[in-house]
Amino acid sequence: MEWIDIHAHLNMLEEGVEAAIHNAQSVGVKKIITIGTDPGDHPLVLDIARKYYPDVYCTLGVHPHDGKVYTEDVGKFIEMHATDREVVAVGEIGLDYYYNQSPVEDQKHAFRAQLEIAKLTGLPVEIHTRDAEADTIEILKEFKGDVRGVIHCFTGTEWLAKEALDVGFNISISGVVTFKNADSLRDTVKMLPVDRIHVETDAPFLAPIPMRGKKNTPAYVLHTAEFVANLKGLSIETLCEQTKKNALDMFPKVQWN
Ligand SMILES: [Zn+2]
Ligand SMILES: [Zn+2]
Repeated sequence: MEWIDIHAHLNMLEEGVEAAIHNAQSVGVKKIITIGTDPGDHPLVLDIARKYYPDVYCTLGVHPHDGKVYTEDVGKFIEMHATDREVVAVGEIGLDYYYNQSPVEDQKHAFRAQLEIAKLTGLPVEIHTRDAEADTIEILKEFKGDVRGVIHCFTGTEWLAKEALDVGFNISISGVVTFKNADSLRDTVKMLPVDRIHVETDAPFLAPIPMRGKKNTPAYVLHTAEFVANLKGLSIETLCEQTKKNALDMFPKVQWN
């Protein structure tokens, strides 16, 4: 079986990029998308994706925490690299009212501006949203039909999942689904159509049970996948094939032979 981790932060891993990719490959995690979060890490994620292409790809985007540092120049940088073969999405972008590390207006401005870039370039987006469900959906609706993407590390309500599916977005499931207190998330995951889901690690954060407490790494996406397969009553092989298909459909630049 061959897997893809659609959301990891390889530049943040203590074990190092090379070791993380090697460990992932050795358990069948063949493809990894490493995520940009702010102007400072864009050169890093680009370098990593260029070096390990076609096994590793990257996204470029400004996280809602950094909404206040989003500028037109940053947008131009993302736009300029949108045609690079290893840049597969704009992200992670969105709204985070839990931490509110940037003022809400700055977050909304950066979110809309980057959705415009996605619309213009045809790239999908990876969305980060926390405690901001209504505003996230309101803004995504402005781009309905023009922008596709995934809600990464989905931890929202069933309402958010349904609305997101309705605006054409897929749902990406992280290790959080394995956590003891995640009953309502599990109920939501059960009802998601299998052709609209992805699995991810968000490494180095949120390691799934039984690795919880350790630093997460792309190899651990298998624990989440196994859990999701059980939850949905699918064989692990079926989930593997389906998530691969979903990923290739969502991120058509990913080369998989
Ligand atoms: Zn995130
Ligand atoms: Zn992330």
